[in-house]
Amino acid sequence: FLPHLVASMTQVETTYIMIKPDGVQRGLVGEIITRFEKKGFKLSGLKLFQCPQDLAEEHYKDLKSKPFFPKLIEYITSGPVVCMAWEGIGVVASARKLIGSTNPLQAEPGTIRGDLAVQTGRNVVHGSDSPENGQREIALWFKESEVCEWTPAQAPWLIE
Ligand code: UDP
Ligand code: MG
Repeated sequence: FLPHLVASMTQVETTYIMIKPDGVQRGLVGEIITRFEKKGFKLSGLKLFQCPQDLAEEHYKDLKSKPFFPKLIEYITSGPVVCMAWEGIGVVASARKLIGSTNPLQAEPGTIRGDLAVQTGRNVVHGSDSPENGQREIALWFKESEVCEWTPAQAPWLIE
């Protein structure tokens, strides 16, 4: 547990963040992107995308046996989503904190779900739950050519 925590505090990771169809329909795209930008993470992939059924099922394959799975797939494919790759030291766990608990009524105020949503089935945003899943999900949602390598001008003012 401890070595993993220490590693996540010093290692550059990538996470897959997705604004779900309700976030797009409600006009929350700018607000949500702003939270990750302001925190100081680096955007390395971004697109608006209509998710096909098979991709949604692959993305959420670990939840296949859950009773809510069919409704989850229906939700994720119900309109365009915004797919993003974000990079940074400890970004996977930090993004999950910025997003807040799965149930928006239990999510802390100040988090995306805590501030902007009321129901688990309409919780506006997805974030990878481990660095391994971050890699897996970015490979699933993006072509290699859609992920950019670049150095933000502000980098030396964020990382000592
Ligand atoms: N979900 C749902 N009902 C539940 C649990 C989850 O509709 O009882 C949906 C919800 O959109 C959630 C997604 O399934 O964000 C994935 O569930 P997970 O437990 O991985 O939550 P997350 O990692 O998104 O917080
Ligand atoms: Mg999850």
